[in-house]
Amino acid sequence: MQAIKNDVIAYNVCRVANGGCYISVQNGEVQVQAPWYITREKIQTLVEEKAKWISEKLREYENENIKKRNYISGKKIKILGDYFNLVIIYENIKLPKLVVEEKIVKITIPNKYKRLDVSDIIGILIEKMYERIAIKEIEDAMEKTRIMLGIAPEDYEIKRIKHTLGKCSNNKKIMINPDIVMFSKEIIDYIVLHEFCHLKYKTHARKFYQMLEKYMPNYTEYENIIGNFNY
Ligand SMILES: [Zn+2]
Repeated sequence: MQAIKNDVIAYNVCRVANGGCYISVQNGEVQVQAPWYITREKIQTLVEEKAKWISEKLREYENENIKKRNYISGKKIKILGDYFNLVIIYENIKLPKLVVEEKIVKITIPNKYKRLDVSDIIGILIEKMYERIAIKEIEDAMEKTRIMLGIAPEDYEIKRIKHTLGKCSNNKKIMINPDIVMFSKEIIDYIVLHEFCHLKYKTHARKFYQMLEKYMPNYTEYENIIGNFNY
């Protein structure tokens, strides 16, 4: 479940016989515990009042997802802004493999690894999956932006740099982190546009933001979702 879509917060309600009303964010999902006599409308109001806190918690979870590697079945894997469930199974096969199905990222590990810590293997498979998706998505965004702006970088590279989603070097080369495909296509477009604007303006000066705004008037929306990354 995508917890926030178009500013609407999705949440699960757990009814209890007594006790108070509590909102929590667990594994990227919003849970509301409420006594039986609290109406749906009242719960909705409570969730809306806490919207800012909820989105902060969800963002923390997403950022942790990137740093941590505690991969277990049921973990949410984000692809293009959607949540997929990680399923890890063991089979009598030679090499580990990953397939993306409807809302599921299925990883099959050889039986012989059963007693080992396989989190590194899973981490690598997921990194490779993001790289594969990134090749196509970033190329599409680059092409779209090139046509829209009528300028192009000397070259671009898909490369992981810690805490950095995109970078534009002095020799007009653009670097995009493949992990960007966790975010929606709109955010990929935004980061690519942002780096293209750096081809003209190196720093985040007023003119830089004016250029951004001209091509993407709602860009601040995306900045808020992205949170703590460099670009
Ligand atoms: Zn920048």
